Amino acid sequence: MPSHRADPAPFEISLVWLRRDLRLDDHAALHQALRRSRRVALVFVFDPDFLQPLLAQGARADRRLTFIQQSLRELDAVLRRMGSALFVEIGRAVDCIPRLAARLGAQAVFFNRDVEPDTMRRDADVAGVLAAQAVEFHGFWDHMLLEPNALRTGLGKPYSVYTPYKNAWLKRIGAADLAHLDCSALPQQVLPDASAPGLPALHDLGFEPVALPAGLPPGPHGARALFADFMRRIDAYASARDYPAIKGTSYLSVHLRFGTISVRELARHAWQRSLDGSAGAASWLSELIWRDFYIQILHHHPQVVGRAFKPEYDRIRWDDAPELFIAWCDGRTGYPFVDAAMRQLNTTGYMHNRLRMVAASFFTKDLGLDWRLGERYFALKLNDFDLAANNGGWQWAASTGCDAQPWFRIFNPVTQSEKFDPAGRFIRRYVPELAGLPDAAIHAPWLASPQLLRDAGVRLGLDYPLPVIDHAEARARALRRYAVVKEVA
Ligand code: FAD
Repeated sequence: MPSHRADPAPFEISLVWLRRDLRLDDHAALHQALRRSRRVALVFVFDPDFLQPLLAQGARADRRLTFIQQSLRELDAVLRRMGSALFVEIGRAVDCIPRLAARLGAQAVFFNRDVEPDTMRRDADVAGVLAAQAVEFHGFWDHMLLEPNALRTGLGKPYSVYTPYKNAWLKRIGAADLAHLDCSALPQQVLPDASAPGLPALHDLGFEPVALPAGLPPGPHGARALFADFMRRIDAYASARDYPAIKGTSYLSVHLRFGTISVRELARHAWQRSLDGSAGAASWLSELIWRDFYIQILHHHPQVVGRAFKPEYDRIRWDDAPELFIAWCDGRTGYPFVDAAMRQLNTTGYMHNRLRMVAASFFTKDLGLDWRLGERYFALKLNDFDLAANNGGWQWAASTGCDAQPWFRIFNPVTQSEKFDPAGRFIRRYVPELAGLPDAAIHAPWLASPQLLRDAGVRLGLDYPLPVIDHAEARARALRRYAVVKEVA
């Protein structure tokens, strides 16, 4: 597996394998490759082992594939201006990477490491084939701020509670951890190869191109535009971040997912601004720390993929209720805040963080459904789907996770709605059939008088569903369901 060469004698040619780091600056693997090579070439692989699960679920129109393709197009254009091009392969990485290394005569392959179990298995396979070809394989930590082994508790164990992790993180972080990794030598060192065939069309991969929403400009260029916009709003983040009708967050999650911007660059600005006294910047940095936290959880506890972090929670018996699952997926539960959330996800591929918490809590605690089913639905739909963050978020909401919401704490979907969308602006955007209801009635239309409903043109059960469950009864059921945990605790 990845090794670090003591002898820095330069390689004649190296290959940099791009994966979830689609940029050409402040890039750990590229930075190291440039330091240690006379020439570098860059490659991206569309690997059917990773695309097939999406196709198997019938997801031919997937915004993420369009986002990746358009981001690669930007990188390819930049490389072509340098007289080179991006190599793009279609096939299993274990075949493509060693084959391309041999074709180019590369002595080393540089890449940024990942903690997802499937990716680690793939990388181990690639490492084996490259070793047999006597090609070196060098991995670096790049997509998190502090690598998963950087922090340990006083007992020498990985952290499993966020607040002490955050405190240790803030104590440890310094300018060196956030330093910009220079890649400015690229134009002089890039391997000239303008003959690379260009990017494949999405059709060649079995997918259809989709129009990306205006709020999701792809590539490093798009990331930079979103970040510049957010830096003008960052001081207000702490007070605005919980209201989905407001433009209060950064919307950078997809860019962080695909590495079209360096997380170090984002954190450098937020850290500096928080040291200058910005509460908004400090709060936003805390979210980047949550991201690191869940990455290190997945790294140290890969069993969280498919199992509860706290094993006793695997004793919970979830309901088998396909009709409730479908109502939730379709945004037709009769709870407007939850339905607006699910419709935002279905139509844009994004869901606001407050809504992710409410929708996931409703799924597990009100509907009594297995968190793994909801996690899988989010994975299919979210543009920013990230295994570590999604698993962490679902296990938090289901109370099965490492530092989760206590099991007896159950969000009330109506009071959440009244608190975080008081004027119903977000609900009206995604549940237009309720738009005519007054603000006070829009959160629980089944409590509105028949006259009010008539005036608003709403026929409950026809235009908009009656609630699929009663929250008070569901809450009592959830407390009984989770009692198995208390018995063994
Ligand atoms: P901002 O508020 O601007 O936050 C900045 C960045 O910090 C985000 O882009 C993200 O990278 C990171 N971040 C923020 N909150 C969290 C968090 N709780 N955990 C980890 N990282 C965080 N985030 C994903 O990136 N991918 C997912 O698949 C994902 N699934 C989630 C599922 C559930 C059930 C829950 C409750 C949360 C999930 N999150 C996920 C976390 C969070 O909701 C999103 O990161 C956030 O809404 C993205 O919007 P933003 O970029 O505007 O966030």
